[in-house]
Amino acid sequence: MRLAPLLLSVALAAGLGLATAPAPAAGQSAQAETRIPQHSFATADRLREQALASELGYRITESLTTEVGPRMAGSEADSRAVEWAIAKFHELGYDKVWTEPVTFPKWVRHSESGEVVGEHAQPLTLTALGGSPGGTVEGEIVRFDDLEALEAAPAGSLAGRIAFVDYEMERARDGAGYGPGGTLRSRGPSAAIRAGADGFLMRSAGTDLHRNPHTGNTRFDEGLEPIPAAALSLPDAQQLTRLLALGKPIRVRLALDVGWDGEYTSQNVIGEITGASKPEEKVMIVAHLDSWDLGTGAVDDGAGIGITMAAGKLIGDLEQRPARSIRVVAFANEEQGLWGGRAYADRYAGEVTDHLIAAESDFGAGRIYALSSGAPDHAQGAVRQIAEALAPLGIEYAGSAGGPGPDLIPFAGKGLMWARLAQDGTDYFDLHHTPDDTLDKIDPAALAQNVAAYAVFAYLAAQAEGDFGSAPKDD
Ligand SMILES: [Zn+2]
Repeated sequence: MRLAPLLLSVALAAGLGLATAPAPAAGQSAQAETRIPQHSFATADRLREQALASELGYRITESLTTEVGPRMAGSEADSRAVEWAIAKFHELGYDKVWTEPVTFPKWVRHSESGEVVGEHAQPLTLTALGGSPGGTVEGEIVRFDDLEALEAAPAGSLAGRIAFVDYEMERARDGAGYGPGGTLRSRGPSAAIRAGADGFLMRSAGTDLHRNPHTGNTRFDEGLEPIPAAALSLPDAQQLTRLLALGKPIRVRLALDVGWDGEYTSQNVIGEITGASKPEEKVMIVAHLDSWDLGTGAVDDGAGIGITMAAGKLIGDLEQRPARSIRVVAFANEEQGLWGGRAYADRYAGEVTDHLIAAESDFGAGRIYALSSGAPDHAQGAVRQIAEALAPLGIEYAGSAGGPGPDLIPFAGKGLMWARLAQDGTDYFDLHHTPDDTLDKIDPAALAQNVAAYAVFAYLAAQAEGDFGSAPKDD
């Protein structure tokens, strides 16, 4: 998961549970209540038990992270990931499989290093932020506690220097700490430029204490000349702070061979299980196919791909298909700006109503603990019914808390209704965007619980009599 710079505030409200959607207006017209027909629940119970007993989600994640490995948008592995997803949907027996192009600027990472120079010379473990320009800079470090402190630095005060923001991100089940951590990563470099800095360093937006830097996208405000920007591993940020505490000027050299390299066209890969009676209407469950390059993208977002592909497959294997179709989307280039999600929203802007409701799995592989949706009053009863079917999985109804997953934000802006299956993200930011994001971190039992939840959610939503509130709106 990442936060699209321009959509940051939306994403905060959305993915991170910091705010709730506006309550449906009281006294709205007496629209018929959406209900899930009672006969659907026996099938849902069976789906749930089948999913819990199945390793399929884990095996799909294993296949992607092993056979393709890291798959940064625009890299050689991007196209192999697309081919992998097409083949996997076919192998799983999806009725329809197709791709839709997604074009974006390509950012590449060749090499990166950093070191303290002078009396206390020593190497630093760091990684360039996505979108950073390349270059080698050396300068005295000026430390700030947080983004606000850096933003308060007078213009020109950092001339010839490197800004270092040592903000400590908090651990939280719902990932709330990533709000300020992600904001620093996205806005810090521009603030450093305004104060005149030649380079930008931050303590990684993460919660581990291993020597793994966390990459992630940044952006530069228009009209500013970009500067090399990187994140230090947490132990290295602590080390730099201790060096500064010696009371002498500390100089760092930062050498990044990274940058923009033309345009690239990837694909959103889509698999669909055809509905029995209203096939043109669909419930969408999604994840993103790309990852950062440092790990193998297991928790971000190989897990989401495994969960959603497996859930769709289990529904496809039912003797009696649900009324509506189940559409599984593996989005291109989420990490560098929701490019796949934006392309989808543009393409289907005229078909919002056919997309009954959608949920994204992009918060790791931890257990799901809550179901919520921004659905209006007349559909909240149906959301509650689904939550009741999920209760044996330890999942509770959470009203309209949260918002759409990142790839769904652009389409939600055009009126798509979202649901959120909130995962326990307590440990997510130990791994997120690091070299340590690998398959061994995934608990297969927790992953199966996710598959069960997505299968039950998608099946029951696809059986609903009535809608969940998807309707065109101007974004
Ligand atoms: Zn992700």
